[in-house]
Amino acid sequence: MTNVERQAALDVIGAEVAVCTRCRLHQTRVKAVPGEGSAETEVMFVGEGPGQNEDRQGRPFVGRAGELLTKLLESILWPRNEVFITNIVKCRPPDNRDPEPDEIAACAPYLTRQLEALDPALVVTLGRYSLGRFNPGGRIGQVHGTFRKPDASSGAPNALAFFMYHPAAALRDASVEALSFQDISAVPAALLEARKMRGPAIAAPVPANTVPPKVAVESQNLNDESAAPAADSDPTDQLDLF
Ligand code: URA
Ligand code: SF4
Repeated sequence: MTNVERQAALDVIGAEVAVCTRCRLHQTRVKAVPGEGSAETEVMFVGEGPGQNEDRQGRPFVGRAGELLTKLLESILWPRNEVFITNIVKCRPPDNRDPEPDEIAACAPYLTRQLEALDPALVVTLGRYSLGRFNPGGRIGQVHGTFRKPDASSGAPNALAFFMYHPAAALRDASVEALSFQDISAVPAALLEARKMRGPAIAAPVPANTVPPKVAVESQNLNDESAAPAADSDPTDQLDLF
């Protein structure tokens, strides 16, 4: 898929989510929150569900938890608009209650389609519900800060999943906040692992002047063309070729 096609696919999903009535959460929402970010990204962050600010604005992670997520990303020098950010359920559960299993199931196909469109190398889960999709049975207290191949049913067969606490949990507990900054510092290395696992997409020899991916990760430019194995290739298309 080209980036234009990826963006088009995301737009179609977003338009469907905006008018979706598949579960009861549509009755109480102000705006559905499909997600936002770069269609070219290698990294998707998946939270739980919109809160009040998100519901009002139709955008993910724009309240206090969102501020912290933005700070966590800044701590590894990743601009927020270079990743894609979405949630397990796209509409706000009333009074910020936990999403119900039938609501999660009703909404799941949208995330599946977003994963298909973006084909991210790395999925970063935020909190228990997102962990439940990519690592069912995993316990956040044990797996936070680690990554593995996600569950086969997660819809991300070519990705690695990295597990983090929810930023809202970090807002309630300073020790969780400290752990979250520690955990996210391991995300760039996890992206390198994910790239390695996906392998070189292009069989052509690597030009001598190619900047290794590590440099691109450390320079925090997720879409850096210099990270591509062939200088004249599209760094995002390369990931589709195998
Ligand atoms: N919490 C979430 O899980 N998602 C948001 O979009 C905002 C807060
Ligand atoms: Fe549809 Fe998901 Fe919103 Fe439920 S939460 S109405 S399934 S978009």
